[in-house]
Amino acid sequence: MSAAGPLPRREGPLGGQRTTRSGERGGYVGRFAPSPTGPLHAGSLVAALASWLDARSHHGRWLVRIEDVDTPRCLPGMDAIILRQLADCGLLPDEPPVWQTRRAPLYEAALQRLVAAGAAYPCACSRKDIEAARAERGESRERFGELVYPGTCRGGLRGRPARAWRFDTRFSEQNRPQVSTESGVSAIESGANGVIRWADRRLGPQAQDVEQAVGDFVLKRADGLWAYQLAVVVDDADQRITHVVRGEDLADNTARQIALQRALGVATPAYLHTPLVRAADGHKLSKQNGAAAADTASPPQALAALNAAAGALGLPPQPGPLPAALAAWVAAWRAPTA
Ligand SMILES: [Zn+2]
Repeated sequence: MSAAGPLPRREGPLGGQRTTRSGERGGYVGRFAPSPTGPLHAGSLVAALASWLDARSHHGRWLVRIEDVDTPRCLPGMDAIILRQLADCGLLPDEPPVWQTRRAPLYEAALQRLVAAGAAYPCACSRKDIEAARAERGESRERFGELVYPGTCRGGLRGRPARAWRFDTRFSEQNRPQVSTESGVSAIESGANGVIRWADRRLGPQAQDVEQAVGDFVLKRADGLWAYQLAVVVDDADQRITHVVRGEDLADNTARQIALQRALGVATPAYLHTPLVRAADGHKLSKQNGAAAADTASPPQALAALNAAAGALGLPPQPGPLPAALAAWVAAWRAPTA
């Protein structure tokens, strides 16, 4: 994702860097946003614990948002299982959870604002059309199975019916407003030529040319579902999230989300991407490749699962019981690293 080669990584526990004044003002709002496509596993529990610890150590609020916008991938009842696992681990949200599928009017309003601002346009292309347009240019690059969109419909639909809505990535080049966080922590600036730059609290300086890397990405899909990127940005803004702490597998989305934040004129949160937990074979643990559910059924099992997650975050093991372990990890997260 960065054009600048290997990324610097912090050593030791991920906490420590109390970079913000907002926590002291009580303004910190963090969130954990699981997709109900499977139960929490060892990898997603790392992100859950890190976001909870970061919120607690900043004396902030911690919210849970069920990211079920991609309904075909979601499994019925999985939201309740995830919330149960979190509760088993003592990770309790400060407000009732929200579900993205109940928030469609917010996404529709945001799309209309983007359209009115000239930052979104309808697209009539099928996947075949996009493949053909790219082949014509001698390009076949894909990113995560998605073809980089060549901007075919920027100039209009030419009588074809609209299928999807896309973000015009040129918008953030032309309009570089007022991007600053309330807490001023993430030192975000726009670079030349449409490159989005931001500072990740763990990964350090990041840069992505969104137009080159992903093209004009989808806001509303041809199947009528809201795209993940739009829903996340709208929800983070609506919930006044100041700090996003999530797994490193999501880091690649950050530039697109910042571009959308700029186009919508909303604040950009601080970002911290946590280390991925890998299976013995080196693959990232994920629901898609069948990672086992984190077993949190009894307090000792929950403590064991949390100890594994804490270890991935560079935090020392705790003997328990659970509340004492969590308190010790909050203190360790808060402590400045030497
Ligand atoms: Zn198109």
